[in-house]
Amino acid sequence: MNFIEGRFCTLIQNPKVAERAVLLEGAVVANQIKETVKAEVQHLSTRNIVPCLAAIRVGEDPASAVYVRNKILACAEVGIRSEHHALPESTTTEQLLDLIQTLNRRDDVDGILTQLPLPKHVDETVVIEEIDPGKDVDGFHPVNVGRLSLGRSAFVPCTPAGIIELLDYYHVPIRGVNACVVGRSQIVGRPMAQLLLQRDATVTICHSRTKDLAAITREADILVAAIGRAGLIGADHIKPGATVIDVGMNRLTESDEIREMFGDGAEKRLEVLAKRGSTLVGDVKPVAAMEIAGRFTPVPGGVGLLTVAMLMKNTLTAAKARRGLSDML
Ligand code: NAP
Repeated sequence: MNFIEGRFCTLIQNPKVAERAVLLEGAVVANQIKETVKAEVQHLSTRNIVPCLAAIRVGEDPASAVYVRNKILACAEVGIRSEHHALPESTTTEQLLDLIQTLNRRDDVDGILTQLPLPKHVDETVVIEEIDPGKDVDGFHPVNVGRLSLGRSAFVPCTPAGIIELLDYYHVPIRGVNACVVGRSQIVGRPMAQLLLQRDATVTICHSRTKDLAAITREADILVAAIGRAGLIGADHIKPGATVIDVGMNRLTESDEIREMFGDGAEKRLEVLAKRGSTLVGDVKPVAAMEIAGRFTPVPGGVGLLTVAMLMKNTLTAAKARRGLSDML
């Protein structure tokens, strides 16, 4: 452990090039966010207020089941009441809208989230737009998207909001730096770019049609990769000393892919593959980030943990705002 800019950080030493990158540990920041939420929830309980999150899941997608379970567990950890509405695959858009309308009306429900993706026959856009913007703790409703783009208070999607918390925790300068976000999804890329812009970064957004991606990303002091392609960002894409945030969550199932991604350090991941049949990797080649970047987020252990912590924070904010205890919305 080393003390850098007021924080203890883990340094990764690369014996070959004697370079080092500071590892930005999502777990540390996520725990701090949850502790703060827990303390505020306890304080609210003295006034007989218990925030409540309603999570809706449709169908049997195993990844969605894991995500919702983790969100429910996090609620229990911080003292937020939760409801899990697990609906069958055959649920129609109308049935889902009925449930959301009921949850919108209920005074004891502060936050509503619909786990995405929904089954193909359900109209996702209509469902998201039905959620009361004041209970939209995922920040996907057009009212919140619009307010964010206007620079006004809004529920912000949890992953990009968590990344800003991570950058602040590690005192990474944002004002005036070149930031590049690769990916333009509603969930990560676009809100990430908005948040960086609000903090006075000079922001470039790249996507699948961007010409000469590496030439653009190489200019970035803060590079956020939210693509969903294992190891797409390599040595050519990273500016020396940059802060590299890897949002990608990809599963590798082939040993060749793992060797290509991790080089000499593939052994541990090959063991994971043998044990579990796959291993979780990001969009950034870790060896390249370790050698060239100044700071980077590992996968797993980086951004992923922040998302659920920020959901807890958004639910607390909703509970306070609905009772006039915060000026949000
Ligand atoms: P998405 O909706 O599929 O968006 C991917 C973006 O990447 C798109 O904008 C796409 O461009 C761009 N892209 C694809 N191929 C590219 C290429 N070759 N060069 C440049 N850009 C390219 O995905 P998402 O929901 O934003 O998620 C991105 C990744 O983050 C996924 O791996 C996901 O699992 C992960 N994720 C992690 C968390 C977390 O908590 N850690 C949360 C959410 C998402 P176009 O727009 O042109 O198609």
